[in-house]
Amino acid sequence: MKYILMLAALLILSSPGCRAQSCGDDDLMKAREGKSSTLKHRQKGELTMLPIQKSDADWKKELSAEEYRVLREKGTEIAFTGKYYKHDADGVYRCAGCGAELFTSHEKYHSGSGWPSFYAPRDSKSIIIREDRSHGMVREEVLCAACGGHLGHVFDDGPQPTGLRYCINSVSLDFESKDNNKE
Ligand SMILES: [Zn+2]
Repeated sequence: MKYILMLAALLILSSPGCRAQSCGDDDLMKAREGKSSTLKHRQKGELTMLPIQKSDADWKKELSAEEYRVLREKGTEIAFTGKYYKHDADGVYRCAGCGAELFTSHEKYHSGSGWPSFYAPRDSKSIIIREDRSHGMVREEVLCAACGGHLGHVFDDGPQPTGLRYCINSVSLDFESKDNNKE
């Protein structure tokens, strides 16, 4: 009997009419989202709307093997090996895939993680945050909003004013100093 009641409740909750009248499952969805992710606080985006869309073959031609592995296959460079984790010059960090401005030296800080760390992007519209459930973890992936390239992940243990740590692969970035010198 209990089983039949549960089944009936499920049928009612999942019926389209009920959804249209918003009889509680919207709130349930919100509660679930809040539990599994803090995405709602940040910029979300649709990867199908990216301004720069290229085939894997084209990306393979344009990028180095390591850039392709990280940017297009969501790889991670080994900690303390990247060119920017202890890089302090003033300037802008662009996407290594498409050149979009992503971060600046102003928001960069030393996290001790072995990857370049920023407490904020240059502009929240320049990145996309997505839930990433790979490797048995729930993390928030950071992608370039222009080309969809994988940049790294964002965590809640950063410094103020945001309390966030954008943990970014050096290989996903191209630094350009204030005087327009690329390094
Ligand atoms: Zn990009």
